[in-house]
Amino acid sequence: MLATLPLVPFWIDGQPAAAHSTRLGIVTNPSTGAPLRQVPLAGAVDVDTAVQSARRAFPGWRATTPLRRSRILARFRELLEVNQAAIATLISEEHGKVFLDAMGSVQRGIEVVEFATGAPHLLKGAFSEEVGRDVDAYSILQPVGVCAGITPFNFPAMVPLWMLPMALACGNTFILKPSEKDPSPSILMAELLTQAGLPPGVFNVVHGDKEAVEALLAHPGVDAISFVGSTPIAKHIYTTAAAAGKRVQALGGAKNHAVVMPDADMTFTADAIMGAAYGSAGERCMAISAVVAVGDAGDRLVAALAERARALKVAPSLEPGSDMGPVVTAEHRQRIIGYIDAGVAQGATLVVDGRGLVIAGHEGGFFVGPTLFDRVTTAMTIYQDEIFGPVLVVVRAASLDEALTIVNANPYGNGTAIFTRSGAAARLFEHEVQVGMVGINVPIPVPMAFYSFGGWKASLFGDLHVHGAEGVKFYTRTKAVTRRWTEDPTVGGFHMPTM
Ligand code: NAD
Repeated sequence: MLATLPLVPFWIDGQPAAAHSTRLGIVTNPSTGAPLRQVPLAGAVDVDTAVQSARRAFPGWRATTPLRRSRILARFRELLEVNQAAIATLISEEHGKVFLDAMGSVQRGIEVVEFATGAPHLLKGAFSEEVGRDVDAYSILQPVGVCAGITPFNFPAMVPLWMLPMALACGNTFILKPSEKDPSPSILMAELLTQAGLPPGVFNVVHGDKEAVEALLAHPGVDAISFVGSTPIAKHIYTTAAAAGKRVQALGGAKNHAVVMPDADMTFTADAIMGAAYGSAGERCMAISAVVAVGDAGDRLVAALAERARALKVAPSLEPGSDMGPVVTAEHRQRIIGYIDAGVAQGATLVVDGRGLVIAGHEGGFFVGPTLFDRVTTAMTIYQDEIFGPVLVVVRAASLDEALTIVNANPYGNGTAIFTRSGAAARLFEHEVQVGMVGINVPIPVPMAFYSFGGWKASLFGDLHVHGAEGVKFYTRTKAVTRRWTEDPTVGGFHMPTM
């Protein structure tokens, strides 16, 4: 039966391509548990085919003016808008997040394409006239070469769109290795890029697992690697790619805290935290998974969250009105339930229990209900580990100082938020917190496309964040030119100039 499932192709040289490797993965529909599609898992030969295609295309794309590249990206943006619902439907089918959330995630990706259409402006260098007698100095930004993107399951369109528009705008060619759990949106986006007029080989897609990733890391024809995924793999990608002399940015996992001060508007705060904790079933790298409740905020907040969590509508991802869909796989569901069991065993107070949730008519689906723990300590595994599911833990703290100490002691540093009516508390938090993206009365402070996205500490390995100005830096190499045009024979000399 599995052999009759449709096959998601690779995309090489501007068209669908078959795999050399015979290894296959199965893509399941998390809302039903049923297999949907087969996906070929690339080996070294497949990766080499994609790299050769990208290398052949590089000189022509590098020579294409930034304005022409930008026009192709503008057409791509229009096609993404026309096909937004089709991409979101594929995401809901293969990932399990609800349709409206999938639409929003594609929208965030479209905004990066929009930003990248400014390529002629983004690629302007600096110029200084007369740095010496008849000497000018300037910098030019040139593409890095063949860049690869390795992306996670939780944003199968948005995370590739953090990378590929920026890489292409800067004149690079690109190979995407999306998550093998939800590979279809990448192929639809590849088709749209081709329709938009992108020359063959400029953008290629290979599917696969560890084997494909290792082949990309080892391939001498790959110049730069962008990775987004879990922290242990991010660390491995960073060290391996850097040792091979490649430019690398590797974004990792997270445990994002919301600090709730006693003066916060509790209705607003509880509503905000609900979406941030349980939206996309908690499978977001910017999800709030830990709340630090300061002073007497805890009792009021936990009561408000519990009431809302019990009222959430958990349903199949494409069912209208569904707040939260299933998690991505049966194994992931088991892992999350294991964490809830551990939280109970370690003495946390289980306020809302999402275990054992069964959706009538979808008994095979990978559903976990919203789960809320109170009186969690930083020694418990439900606090320490990234669960990546609909599980929110509440830790109590006596003061803002204690809350800051807790947030800063955590090894992750992706996103965080403070809820308060005090400008002084917010300002202190913003200044002292050791986290890359900070929200003030904003639960998921994802930077817009024209800023850069990235965490600190174990949430990012490498120097540069994605998209925005840092994305341009990552996908270009700077060349500094010092130029003299003179007819005066007295300028210049034997020694280094002293003034
Ligand atoms: P993952 O680390 O399991 O997989 C990410 C990518 O790496 C996939 O393409 C996968 O095929 C590949 N991969 C998996 N195992 C590998 C191995 N052993 N060697 C080499 N490559 C391997 O992550 P995931 O489960 O797909 O995604 C969820 C994780 O991603 C969470 O930890 C989440 O916080 C993180 N994430 C982070 C951000 C961010 O911006 N920091 C954004 C989205 C997701």
